Amino acid sequence: MNYPRNHSKYFNTIVIGVGGMGSATCYAIAKRGKRVLGLEALDIPHTSGSSHGHTRIIRMAYYEHPSYVMLLKRAYELWHEIENRADEKLLHYTGSIDAGPADSAVFSGAFQSATQYELEHEVLTGSEMTQRFPGYHFPHDMLALYQPQGGFLVPERCGICYVNAAMDMGAEIHGRERVLEYAPTSSGGVRVRTTRDEYFADSVVITAGAWDAGLMPFLKPLAVPERQVLAWFRPSRTEYFQPGNFPVFNCILPEGRFYGFPQHGIPGFKIGKYHHFQETGDPNNLIRGNNEPRPDDEQVLRDFTSRYFPDAAGPTMTLAACMFTNTPDGHFIIDQHPTMPQISYASPCSGHGYKFASVLGEIMAELAELGATRWDISLFRADRFGVPTSALFRNKGVAPRVAITGHHDPFGNKGAANGAATGHGARGSSEHGAHDASQSPHWLRDGVKSFW
Ligand SMILES: Cc1cc2nc3c(=O)[nH]c(=O)nc-3n(C[C@H](O)[C@H](O)[C@H](O)COP(=O)(O)OP(=O)(O)OC[C@H]3O[C@@H](n4cnc5c(N)ncnc54)[C@H](O)[C@@H]3O)c2cc1C
Repeated sequence: MNYPRNHSKYFNTIVIGVGGMGSATCYAIAKRGKRVLGLEALDIPHTSGSSHGHTRIIRMAYYEHPSYVMLLKRAYELWHEIENRADEKLLHYTGSIDAGPADSAVFSGAFQSATQYELEHEVLTGSEMTQRFPGYHFPHDMLALYQPQGGFLVPERCGICYVNAAMDMGAEIHGRERVLEYAPTSSGGVRVRTTRDEYFADSVVITAGAWDAGLMPFLKPLAVPERQVLAWFRPSRTEYFQPGNFPVFNCILPEGRFYGFPQHGIPGFKIGKYHHFQETGDPNNLIRGNNEPRPDDEQVLRDFTSRYFPDAAGPTMTLAACMFTNTPDGHFIIDQHPTMPQISYASPCSGHGYKFASVLGEIMAELAELGATRWDISLFRADRFGVPTSALFRNKGVAPRVAITGHHDPFGNKGAANGAATGHGARGSSEHGAHDASQSPHWLRDGVKSFW
């Protein structure tokens, strides 16, 4: 049955998943004066997805690709907007460090973004870092790009502030209501069936994080949930790890690529390793039940901390598990459904999406209402992996094809499964061994090659 537009079960847009991206999307849609329903399967907030753990890094000189910088400029503006509206501090400036060998993507990518966009920055050696920020003990020959506009967001509070602001503007948001299925209606809208009810809308936005592929099976090999573990260790020198004198960091060292934070929320230095033990699987089991943090999870984080942050390697305060949702090239997928243009979706994780939630909310709201966005999101189009081109990118040229070797191609495109990576797909080739990685130094082998 189709409801009339003034019916209580009819909405302009239904947002599926009210986590990091969904909460910002509900806000941005409500801000446009539209009737929005946000449906969240679990609690608001919860600790079983990708947006918990007290802190998320935000930085502007982006080593993953300079094209993110314009989005980041808007993301910062919008984080300040929600802070002002909520009258709450959500973005804490600490400065940030992107460190590694001179030709590592972490350092050289950040440096390229900083110089291309004339962003304020300094280059420090390992020893200079220790002099300036005594919590750090990196090798002298490492280089770090320090950017003062780096810092961290507080994701649980950001989500709550977005949900509150959206509801103040008339949004309806339901926790503990899982979407079971959706289908197009004869009038060009969407019918959504949940564990509690059935609703209708002109458009749908899917922001289901690690569960995206469950709702859109064509994403199965392209948005792959992966278990991550975080540790908070009590420093012996707490004064070295305060937000005022310990910048957040990303670094690449022989042990892998790690990231960390000063003390905030939990009385401990926080650290995590990208791709941790590379455990992928069903998002319903990956971080719950038997997958609670284990001694071997803790050990890898403690060993790294003892070596490079020796004054932080005190007693364990907290361990937590969380999920990345990885794409083959590490860039987001943001697009319209290939056959239903009234449905758009965002899979912006691969371990670096949270900082964009504010601007992605704005982009998803534009897609929901207008079927278009003024932002250039072509880096994120799904047809780079062989998914049929959506209406959004039809007539906009052909996407550079990215290799997804090791995954089956859901659309049987030989080129996507076996073709060489081109353009921004360079990382895909390095991760999946398209060149002889055994000959490369560690920082070029760890899936963090430059993308350009
Ligand atoms: C350990 C870790 C560290 C990270 N560090 C950083 C960082 O420092 N900086 C940074 O920018 N990014 C970081 N990221 C990435 C960032 O946190 C993610 O990009 C972001 O949280 C993803 O948000 P999301 O909305 O896609 O997913 P989520 O916040 O998980 O939201 C998805 C929601 O959809 C709901 N859902 C799923 N299926 C359904 C359904 N059928 N019906 C209704 N609801 C449904 C889920 O319950 C969930 O609440 C990190 C990620 C992790 C895991």
